[in-house]
Amino acid sequence: MADKILAKDKLDEFIAKLREEADVYAPARVGAKTTWQEVNGAEGLDWDFTNTEMSPKDFFFPQTECMMRFKNAKDDPEGMIMKAEELLPRSRVLLNMRPCDAKAFQVLDMIFVQDEMTDDVYWRDKREKTLVAGLACNEPCPTCFCSSVNCGPHHQVGMDLLFVDLGDKLLVKVLTEKGEAASADLPPAAAADEAKAAELKAAAEAAISSKVSLDKINAREVLDLYNLPMWDKVHEACLNCGTCTFVCPTCHCFDIQDEVQGQEGRRVRNWDYCMSWLFTMHGTGHNPRGKKKDRVRQRFMHKFKYIPVKRDGEIGCVGCGRCIQMCPVNIDVRQVVDQMNS
Ligand code: SF4
Ligand code: SF4
Repeated sequence: MADKILAKDKLDEFIAKLREEADVYAPARVGAKTTWQEVNGAEGLDWDFTNTEMSPKDFFFPQTECMMRFKNAKDDPEGMIMKAEELLPRSRVLLNMRPCDAKAFQVLDMIFVQDEMTDDVYWRDKREKTLVAGLACNEPCPTCFCSSVNCGPHHQVGMDLLFVDLGDKLLVKVLTEKGEAASADLPPAAAADEAKAAELKAAAEAAISSKVSLDKINAREVLDLYNLPMWDKVHEACLNCGTCTFVCPTCHCFDIQDEVQGQEGRRVRNWDYCMSWLFTMHGTGHNPRGKKKDRVRQRFMHKFKYIPVKRDGEIGCVGCGRCIQMCPVNIDVRQVVDQMNS
């Protein structure tokens, strides 16, 4: 599909057109921070952000999500009947999503929607009703290592459109039919715009200095990796606070609970995390990951070995670097992967 051009001074018009049929969200400046906000136009959009602190995963997998409602009243004809929660009422557009975050959703698609038996309707509904327009990274940050883990600063996977910032205009790469419909009114890109975007891509890829290797992890048996002596050390500093998992775009553990007030209740799922002692606690009192070492090992083994084994080599990490920036005791995923690969 041919690339298009969107002048930044036409963005208000572009967003207004999108808003006729969808709610539009984008990373926007709020005080000192850039966070995902609903936007009415171009005002406040941040063109220089590196990564939002929290990933946009809660657009598809909210921190707390009501799945169904029920009434307990035995004498009410509606009582004891579970009612599914309404699905997303209106389409959405997520503008300026970084390529690593878009790639993370493609990884999670493989987990939430696998086959008829494992088809998470809450996830699938939101994915189907959302258009993702990415924004390529021209200046990756020092903690980014996306190009080592099946991604990259101008990566296009998981998006309908990809914008490349050329200064006063955006080169618009049209990647899907949904993207084609959304960009139908835009003029075609000129050869000079294409050349400039290619230059920016090469420069961004060259600027990623952080790298990890996975070749030996791939070649090793699961149990060899599981039994490496490195795990005795790696877990020591960890507080099991869960920050790394909450900020991670690919972490997706949850817990389901019934909340009841009077005779009415709702079934909700909440983000949970494998670093928590309670997460694997059985009703019998037995806990298969009762030690901190077991839980820390689980996080890294899941991302870099279990997911690749089960999902044809896909990796459960997109190299966004958030966990490196946010861990209060400076545990660095790149160093752990290097040790797994040594
Ligand atoms: S953020 Fe750091 S300290 Fe907290 S659970 Fe993750 S690795 Fe452990
Ligand atoms: S593990 Fe860390 S670097 Fe990898 S995707 Fe999650 S937050 Fe980003």
